[in-house]
Amino acid sequence: MSARMVLLGPPGAGKGTQAARICGRLSIPAISTGDIFRANVAGATELGRRAQQYMDRGEYVPDSVTNAMVRSRLAADDAARGFLLDGYPRTEGQVHELDAILAASGLALDIVLEITADSEAVVARLLTRASEQNRADDTESVIRHRLEVYAEQTAPLAALYRDRGLLVQVDGIGAVDEVTERIMTALVPRLSARGVTA
Ligand code: AMP
Repeated sequence: MSARMVLLGPPGAGKGTQAARICGRLSIPAISTGDIFRANVAGATELGRRAQQYMDRGEYVPDSVTNAMVRSRLAADDAARGFLLDGYPRTEGQVHELDAILAASGLALDIVLEITADSEAVVARLLTRASEQNRADDTESVIRHRLEVYAEQTAPLAALYRDRGLLVQVDGIGAVDEVTERIMTALVPRLSARGVTA
C-alpha cells in the first residue's frame, strides 16, 4: 500500500530532517520543493534563475513556476508508491493544484503532518543553520520575513486539511530522535489503516 503525505510546519521546525527519517522508514521519496529550487539555483538552470530572486527575499516563488515543477516531479516513477511533500503546498492555490494533479490519476492525499514550533525557537535554529550552511536566504531579516509569509499564507492550510480529516499535529521541539518517535507514534494508526507498516 502507499502513503501520500504532505508535511507542514514553519521554516526551521526540522521538516527536512524529519522528512528524511520518515521516508527512510516508509521507503517513499521525500520531495522538498526548497531543495529542488536550491539545486536549480546551484546548477544555474532556467528554473533556478526564475526562482532565485524570490528565494533571496524570503518570498514565495510564483505558483505558476512551483506548480509545474511539482507536477513533473510527481510524475516520476518513484512517486507512484507514495511520497512525502516537504514545503508544498504552501498556498491555497497550491492545495487545489495538488488535488487536481492527484485526482487526474484517481488519487488523493492520505495524511497531512504538521510539525509545530514556537517562532523564537525556529529563528534561533535558522540562524545556527545559516552560519553552518552559508544559506543566502537565511539572514535574520529574511528569516523573520519567511516566518511572516508562512503565518499569513501557509499556516491557514492546516485548518483546511483538518476540515478534511487529514491533519496530524506533532510538537517539533525536542531532540531529533524524540521528535521522530513522536511523529511515528502519531502516524502509525493512520498508516496501518491504509495497510502501510512503519
Ligand atoms: P524551504 O527550504 O522549503 O524553506 O524553501 C526555500 C524557499 O524556496 C522558500 O523560501 C521559497 O522561496 C521557495 N519555495 C519552496 N517551496 C515553495 C512553494 N511550495 N511555493 C513557493 N515557493 C517555494
